[in-house]
Amino acid sequence: MVKVGVLALQGDFEKHIETLDRLQVSSVEVREKSQLDKIDGLIIPGGESTTIGKLLVRYELMEPLRNFAKAGKPIFGTCAGAILLAKEIEGSNQDRIGVLDIAVKRNAYGRQIESFEADIFVPKIGELPVRGVFIRAPIIKHVKDGVEVLSRFADNPVLVKQGKILAATFHPELTNDTRIHAFFLSLFSA
Ligand code: GLN
Repeated sequence: MVKVGVLALQGDFEKHIETLDRLQVSSVEVREKSQLDKIDGLIIPGGESTTIGKLLVRYELMEPLRNFAKAGKPIFGTCAGAILLAKEIEGSNQDRIGVLDIAVKRNAYGRQIESFEADIFVPKIGELPVRGVFIRAPIIKHVKDGVEVLSRFADNPVLVKQGKILAATFHPELTNDTRIHAFFLSLFSA
């Protein structure tokens, strides 16, 4: 039985826990670095990436999380979580974990369309699309070699993977579809 940690400093972490519950996977809210030794993988939720970044510094979680990634433990970031994983954040020097070779631009869909939904096709998980919920979402502007683009929307990558790090610019935890989380869990044994 795997145990999945969900970073619970700010943002919609409860929704991820509900999704994991639906998959009958046990999870734990993570707020302290000592907890990282007791989990097999970690989800970083959506929320406000600057706030979560500051809290990661305050709770001395930055370096332990980089080591967690370096150790090859699976990490899944959604929206703000994806921003925190990115090495490059256009025009921002905000605190980040910075373990994923992508460049992102925050709030990149503009004011008129701050939030929207769209069908997202992810061939790896099946033919039926997932409903992508985008909320003040970032755009992934560049990916470096070694980063696999699992899905694009309007030409931009929206789901990417590098090793065991997965990042989505949308919120699979806000739908009843558990397939993206199930895909993340498949990385634990890969
Ligand atoms: N706009 C937020 C940020 O830049 C992310 C929004 C989200 O996670 N839904 O951190």
